[in-house]
Amino acid sequence: MNCQDIRELIDSYADGELDLVNHLEIEKHLADCDACDAAYKNRQALNGAFDESFKFSAPASLRKSIQKELREISSEPKPKRIWHWGWFATATAVAAVLVVTLFVFRPTVPSDDVLATEIVSNHVRSLMANHLMDVPSTDQHTVKPWFDGKLDFSPPVIDLTSQGFTLIGGRLDYAGNRPVAALVYQRRQHYINLFVFPSKGASDSSEKVSAKQGYNIVQWNRGGMSFWAVSDLNAAELQEFVADYQK
Ligand SMILES: [Zn+2]
Repeated sequence: MNCQDIRELIDSYADGELDLVNHLEIEKHLADCDACDAAYKNRQALNGAFDESFKFSAPASLRKSIQKELREISSEPKPKRIWHWGWFATATAVAAVLVVTLFVFRPTVPSDDVLATEIVSNHVRSLMANHLMDVPSTDQHTVKPWFDGKLDFSPPVIDLTSQGFTLIGGRLDYAGNRPVAALVYQRRQHYINLFVFPSKGASDSSEKVSAKQGYNIVQWNRGGMSFWAVSDLNAAELQEFVADYQK
């Protein structure tokens, strides 16, 4: 299969509609061809964007009216007859609304734990696949503009060389169903991946420190962005890195 064939099948591939032989052939091609792989990632990002724009939260007024209905039902005197049709109809309506609420309006943002697992895998993969950086540079004025046009946001790139955390480059990555910026810093022989992406509706939060598969993670939200620092560096120094980055 050449690139042209791949592009024609990429939609079906992304939707998992291909037979095994074609699927594997495309998978193999994407691993070797950066251009087709980029096209595939764009297609996935588009999928993610579509998913996001068709998800809605239940409006507060709907929630209130369900609560009111429930209160009215529970305060109603017990019916003397076994079948009280008014009550039955209301209960059915409420049950239907609840089912719709649970299944249609269920939260779709990946949980922090799922995201943490993804972030750690990204970190490990970046080191294993020898693909730590798309733009190797110690200059924040080179790294920051490199992301222009590749992402729909601009990650804050901060030089921390004098604090002992050398900026060594940046990379495009993918987490939480969206393209994200990965900033790469180094202390001694330890690498820090700092993943940055917009956090929908999340308010500013202080740093949460955790560990997964032997890697330390510090997560915080600020100014509408979500930040995830991950490294095999010890937790104290990783927190020091985060404090310096936030200054
Ligand atoms: Zn190709």
